[in-house]
Amino acid sequence: MKHLSIVISIVFIPVLLLGCVTHANEKRLTGFILDHVSRIEPLTTKANLAYWDASTTGKSEDYDKLSRLQLKIRQIYSDPRDFAVLKEVRDSGVITDPTLARQLDKLYYAYLTNQIPPDLLKTLVDLDAKVQEKYNTFRGDIDGKKVTMSDIYTIMTTEKDVRTRQLAWRASKQVGDVIVADLIQLVKLRNQAARKVGFDNYHTMMIVTGEQSIEELDNIFNQLDRLTAKPFAEMKKELDAILAKSYGIAPKDLMPWHYHDPFFQRTPLVYDLDLDLYYKDNDVKKLAEDFYAGVGLPVDDILAVSDLYDREGSPAAAGKYPHAFSHDVDRRGDVRILCNLQNTERWMETILHELGHAVYSKYHDRDEPWLLREPAHSFTTEGVAVFFGRLSRNAAWMQKMLNLSDAERAKIEDVSWKYLQFQQILFARWAMVMYNFEKQLYADPDQDLNGLWWRLVEKYQLVKQPPGPADAGWASKLHFTTAPCYYHNYMLGELLASQLHHCFVHDVMRLDSDKDVSYVNDKRLGEYLRAKVFGPGALYPWNEMIERATGEPLTPKYFVEQFVK
Ligand SMILES: [Zn+2]
Repeated sequence: MKHLSIVISIVFIPVLLLGCVTHANEKRLTGFILDHVSRIEPLTTKANLAYWDASTTGKSEDYDKLSRLQLKIRQIYSDPRDFAVLKEVRDSGVITDPTLARQLDKLYYAYLTNQIPPDLLKTLVDLDAKVQEKYNTFRGDIDGKKVTMSDIYTIMTTEKDVRTRQLAWRASKQVGDVIVADLIQLVKLRNQAARKVGFDNYHTMMIVTGEQSIEELDNIFNQLDRLTAKPFAEMKKELDAILAKSYGIAPKDLMPWHYHDPFFQRTPLVYDLDLDLYYKDNDVKKLAEDFYAGVGLPVDDILAVSDLYDREGSPAAAGKYPHAFSHDVDRRGDVRILCNLQNTERWMETILHELGHAVYSKYHDRDEPWLLREPAHSFTTEGVAVFFGRLSRNAAWMQKMLNLSDAERAKIEDVSWKYLQFQQILFARWAMVMYNFEKQLYADPDQDLNGLWWRLVEKYQLVKQPPGPADAGWASKLHFTTAPCYYHNYMLGELLASQLHHCFVHDVMRLDSDKDVSYVNDKRLGEYLRAKVFGPGALYPWNEMIERATGEPLTPKYFVEQFVK
């Protein structure tokens, strides 16, 4: 017996000590969070309101107010003593309470990315602004005549003359050569900043602090490549035949300027059907409101505080943000969307999309701590928004919501399906170019980047590099400057939308196929999303949330199942 008690005490003493350390650290962390949230919550709400005012009015005083508040928020997150506390608690590895551990992780990463030395940060911000200004004020030219991007899009979607097309395509890329030296300098400075906080480069820092891992992303993108390579090659062959015929050339002679988008990221309009026809005599706001109410996710409170229409003609109109977004003001139910609605298919898609973001925010469990009352990841809210936005082109949904005949539905199904299918697979291939290029750009900014770009474009998009030396046309993609290392999240959002769709159709509705699924008036959809996705907010890391909601981690197979048929 004595022997046993010695064994027990050897085992138990460290556990008791550890218990003490755990308790002390949990107490310390709880105190930290209480203090932090008491400072950050009111500032965040004020900044969100200022952002809303600035976006709806465009007034410079609102933008000034917003930058002052953002600076105050950044000052909190850049405090090195607070960061030291968080690091110590985190390194101790003793926080076992899952809710506390989640909050600690979120705080730790938010502080970590703000620990860049102030002088380096200033150089970065200034150079970033310089590149953006050059980008915004540059105009490409065709035969010496200045053109805007919208001129270029018009030529690329309508012009038959190949010489003009080639000049327009080249004009769209000219800005790349103008900004590329500054952009590479920016990449090197971002890398320098990332190394200061312990990462090998900026790309890694962005992935890790976004709670993702390179291996995980590589794995998803490699699977997606394998699953889409063959169907994409077939669809593209069919498209090439149509395009080549329209230009009177052989498919093998097609060059990048023969496609309808500077980066071939959008499907040429050869398959398009004018869906606006079906929406022009309807009220897209009313359709969205009725649909969401029908699935048990009422949005009347959101719409009541939203800004939905442009105010063309009124003096207050000029400065309103021209696109759309959803905005969670206070994490306590004040959720708004901004749109510039018209009764077109594009705005039907947009309001469904933005309300998808909005219901995600609205239905976070309010008993959860403030720090966790947000989506599991920026791409998970994107996935939900995409899930709803896709319905505007869905024939079954359109038939129910717009009272269409079977014949009309069949027509939409034929044309719209082909377009949608191609668009999705094309986007996946394009996203692979972006993901792989950015990864290698930050790993070695001194390599032959122009050559690398074309190797990836030829591999994933099957588009030929034009003869002659490669220029820096890739740098004309604005995301490299303004939203670095983020593009892959758009693709992950698409994958999640398909995975949620698959899971709901098969596990909740218990159907074998999604053939007639429109979701219209199916209250189970709202119940499912509230319980599994919206309610938990950021309580679980994103892949755990997805596994809990769908039975498996994020996978490309349902995206492929949905769009490759
Ligand atoms: Zn969105």
